Amino acid sequence: MLKRVLIANRGEIALRIIRACRELDVETVAVYSQADESSLAAQVATRSLCIGPARASDSYLNQEALLTAAKATGCDAIHPGYGFLSENPDFADRCVEAGLRYIGPSGDVIRKMGSKAAARTLAQNAGVPVVPGSDGPLSGVVQARELADRVGYPVLLKASAGGGGRGMRQVDGPEDLERAYQAAQAEAVACFGNGEMYLEKLILHPRHIEFQIMADGQGHVVHLGERDCSIQRRRQKLVEESPSRALTPELRERMGAAAVAAARAAGYVGAGTVEFVLSPEGDFYFIEMNTRIQVEHPVTELVTGVDLVREQLRVAAGLPLSFTQEDVRVSGHAIECRINAEDPEHDFHPCPGKTEFLHLPGGPGVRVDTALYTGYEVPPYYDSLVAKVLVHAPTRLEAIRRMRRALEELVIEGYPTNAALAHLIMHDPEFVRGQYDTSFLDRNLEKLLELARTCDHLMDG
Ligand code: ADP
Ligand code: ADP
Ligand code: MG
Repeated sequence: MLKRVLIANRGEIALRIIRACRELDVETVAVYSQADESSLAAQVATRSLCIGPARASDSYLNQEALLTAAKATGCDAIHPGYGFLSENPDFADRCVEAGLRYIGPSGDVIRKMGSKAAARTLAQNAGVPVVPGSDGPLSGVVQARELADRVGYPVLLKASAGGGGRGMRQVDGPEDLERAYQAAQAEAVACFGNGEMYLEKLILHPRHIEFQIMADGQGHVVHLGERDCSIQRRRQKLVEESPSRALTPELRERMGAAAVAAARAAGYVGAGTVEFVLSPEGDFYFIEMNTRIQVEHPVTELVTGVDLVREQLRVAAGLPLSFTQEDVRVSGHAIECRINAEDPEHDFHPCPGKTEFLHLPGGPGVRVDTALYTGYEVPPYYDSLVAKVLVHAPTRLEAIRRMRRALEELVIEGYPTNAALAHLIMHDPEFVRGQYDTSFLDRNLEKLLELARTCDHLMDG
């Protein structure tokens, strides 16, 4: 096994990784920025050290500082978590060059999948259906226009280096194309330092269905079923569940095989996610592969009983997967609600602040992944995710009822969150029937917010 792991991340995922390490008797080194001195991860890790100022570029994205810290503390591996450097192929390479194990696939694999335009080609060559669109990156607006005419509007302009829903624009007709191209490209340059663009036909009313992959260095590639992540705002996930109501056993089998084929074609090792959009007609298309642990990975852990972070550590240590495809059994139903420090009433504007009081839900079938505690000050420099509330129950309806109950128990005082919105989603007839698609939240947001206001008003009265 590994001896000592440096965690190049923060917040709930840093804590999640520390937990897996402790259960395997692996020591941990938490690094933190000056804004994270009072973080829970820094307190519970075997050792912790400050690596720089609050700004991510000076701390969690500072490769030199991370590698120096790992060496100075005698670590033999680095876990990148999600976000930050987790999909940076150069960082993966540099870890290996420094004699450290990188807990994730090789730099080459990340590079292949990291350009979303190139990943499309790779998937296509592996026989995996992709959305009609460009072969490789676009040369400019002129080529985008030709292609859009060919595949038909509406189309999506997407940044090759994009992530978190950024660098993407929907284009409904030729008159909007040039402006959208420039806006998407400018956003991609600002967020990812890379303006490479590609184009896909917009699939109307799709589901976002993704498959969890786990692969080891001995050539085993398995999938652990799907997650339905269609409840999104601005193309970012808010609620995730497994299994998906939209899949038949036959479709699950085909999509799972396609996900495994894409991972195999990339020479994948470690935990990863293959994302698809699924049309109302039941056609599925590869959209991207995330070469890291995903925010919503606990959904899969609940229904399969597999500890994905533990498997990541085992695989990085050179051990084979502890299970085979035949061993994977999906049991019951799991749902996750992402709780963000943000104000749904003001366009989901991030609202960090001091956690004046915190009470977390518990009891049967409830899991909360968070690094919050009463008195903790959420810093304004990073992602607004503060907690993930998860439930597991025998059936989907029982899971929904359990999630309602868990969200009713949750108390976070000190700043606004989206918890009340999540609670209302759990009561929405369309959600309860399971017949929603990625447009659900945009279509229902005003109605749900109005309901929330009415509830507040009644409570105040
Ligand atoms: P997931 O499917 O795991 O939710 P997301 O795309 O929402 O993946 O990203 C997870 C986290 O990583 C979020 O905090 C998001 O802000 C961040 N993130 C995503 N892509 C990038 C990127 N290219 N660079 C930096 N951070 C990113
Ligand atoms: P990111 O890297 O930001 O996660 P994705 O390519 O995964 O970008 O797309 C984000 C979301 O946008 C998806 O979850 C899906 O809801 C939507 N989307 C992406 N591609 C398409 C498409 N071709 N048609 C319809 N919706 C799409
Ligand atoms: Mg995605």
